Amino acid sequence: MTGNERELDRRQFLKESTTAAAAFTAAVRAAPARGARKQRSSARRVIVLGFDAMDPVLTEQMMAAGDLPNLDRLRRAGGYRRLGTSIPPQTPVAFASFITGLNPGGHGIFDFIHRDPKHQYLPLFSAAGTSRGSGYWEVGKHKLQLTFWPFDHTAPEQLLYRKGIPFWDYLDEAGIPTHIYEIPSNFPPSPSKHGRHRALAGLGTPDMHGGYGTYQHFAQNGPYKPRDEGGGIRSRIIFRNDTAEAKLIGPDNTFLQKPQPTSVEFKIHRDRQADAAMIEVQGQRILLKRGQWSKWVRLDFRFPMPSFVPDEHQSGICRFYLQEVAPIFRLYVTPINIDPSDPALRISEPPEFVQEVSKELGLFYTAGFQEDHKALSNKVFTDEEYVEQTNIVLEERMELLGYALEHYDDGLLFFYFACTDLQPHMFWWNSDEPHPVRSPEDARKYHGHVKELYKKMDRIVGDMLARYGDQASLIAMSDHGMANFKRQFNLNRWLRDNGYIQPSNARDLTGLYPDKVGPDWSRTRAYGLGLNSLYLNLRGRERDGIVRGGDEREALLTKLVEKLEAIRDIDGKPVIRRVYRADEVYSGAEMRLAPDLIIGYHRGHRCSWATTLGDMTDEVFSDNDSAWSADHCLAAEDVPGVLFTNRPILADAPALIDLAPTIMAEFGVRQPPAMVGRNLFNPPAAT
Ligand SMILES: [Zn+2]
Repeated sequence: MTGNERELDRRQFLKESTTAAAAFTAAVRAAPARGARKQRSSARRVIVLGFDAMDPVLTEQMMAAGDLPNLDRLRRAGGYRRLGTSIPPQTPVAFASFITGLNPGGHGIFDFIHRDPKHQYLPLFSAAGTSRGSGYWEVGKHKLQLTFWPFDHTAPEQLLYRKGIPFWDYLDEAGIPTHIYEIPSNFPPSPSKHGRHRALAGLGTPDMHGGYGTYQHFAQNGPYKPRDEGGGIRSRIIFRNDTAEAKLIGPDNTFLQKPQPTSVEFKIHRDRQADAAMIEVQGQRILLKRGQWSKWVRLDFRFPMPSFVPDEHQSGICRFYLQEVAPIFRLYVTPINIDPSDPALRISEPPEFVQEVSKELGLFYTAGFQEDHKALSNKVFTDEEYVEQTNIVLEERMELLGYALEHYDDGLLFFYFACTDLQPHMFWWNSDEPHPVRSPEDARKYHGHVKELYKKMDRIVGDMLARYGDQASLIAMSDHGMANFKRQFNLNRWLRDNGYIQPSNARDLTGLYPDKVGPDWSRTRAYGLGLNSLYLNLRGRERDGIVRGGDEREALLTKLVEKLEAIRDIDGKPVIRRVYRADEVYSGAEMRLAPDLIIGYHRGHRCSWATTLGDMTDEVFSDNDSAWSADHCLAAEDVPGVLFTNRPILADAPALIDLAPTIMAEFGVRQPPAMVGRNLFNPPAAT
């Protein structure tokens, strides 16, 4: 995962997904209740624990020191290997490879961020989007979509862009139940054809604002005009006699011709002596002491409609955290999550599955990003506050795992943990070099926190071993590893300085900023977008393409690879370990959006925050001054994942794309020809 999505055109995304939300709400309410679960106690079990970004170097060190006894037991029962990751090693790309058994050329997800070549340099989320729908009926300020005859308007719809067939479809077809909890690159969850598949959506699931998570922060020293700071909105709160009124911003009302955000008003009464505050919202009263978190609170967002149509409503949930009462009142509100008991979007398969979970567990985080790393990056949280918030998330995850196990009898169970990715992104630092934002003592302390987190994951593995022993094939895996991120490389600035982007004083590739010199596409031959992707401005493909196919393309690619791999930082250190050519490392039917080159950075370097969306900074190189101080968007060879299992691993060099055929083989389901991986427990060479 990465924090770059914060800068995407969130408003557009927001508008689209809230429009789809309205169409979905009506559908799910009409869905029939699900029948009783079928018991098949003698059948096979495969359980996969997905620990995002669990790093082999740290894991091996800790295992050697005796700190991960249960993973070590798993290793001794079967095996442990470093697990080959995807190119590039980004979570949506890697998990799409796990899900389909295909490389990105087959599943079509190449980076967190794609572009549509027809709209040059318009960044898009790669894994999900919203169809626009068609037709509407104008009624005053409103536009209504009437999907029935004779109007037959088409409602907007959430779309999963991942292509290829998820391996669980083959299991579903073969009568094997599959339970998939929050796997990345599965929003909205792909539908089940045979009704034996259940899934909760994971990374990619938006909050009610339609983005990847927008907290709201109210403080007496906040800005007078609410400020969107990428990941959150800060605003000023003004007390009169220790009472203040404020608004929680909700989803856009897309039934209006000019969509406006909905909101919910709330009141705060503070008691300085008691160091506490009372929040009143929609008839609910929440009493919080300083430093206290509320439980989940349901919010009803009303979408006013024309007089002859009943108003629409969407339910969202949030938690309040009272940071300070006086002298400067500060209140944090989590991103408004989709209410699992009344979801505004389809976040599970079948759609009502999430409601069944919620009946037992109550309310919980449903957004893809649950740990609020942006609140830490934006200094709304201290390190300690972030840790506390991640503990709340982990507690919920453990309850969800409990639910998953209770409702699992046989077949496949996959359960995902994001904590091993997001917390290390913020807390990894494992060297004596100066940390971007923390003192050496704090850097050591929080690296210790990462180790404690690994121990917690180890205990989960222990619980699974105790519960299932050899009655299940147990797999613990990660999609990639983790590395310090000390230096930023501005790819587009380098391309400009080397004449590939014109004019030579260009400062921005999007053309969206009137104060910055934009690109001259008629003279620009290559550009970067996303975290690892480089595109040629290819004629016939890009909107304003100029590079001819054939020899011209070939010569340009060869030259770019040679020059990029030779780049040195100002201290002489190499920056890029390998530049991959898409036509050499990818294959499959979904190459339409593939970049031409994939930049594989060395550990320590990564593309700069600015470069991902086309901003060209003054310097090619700069220090990374973000609390987001570790990353994995590097050369695949530098950040493999881990693979532990209680079955002997008989294949050499196992990789992510091998897991789908391996799991299918455990159930006796034949590998389809499109999957190029091998059964790791019984590879062709060993039979
Ligand atoms: Zn990550």
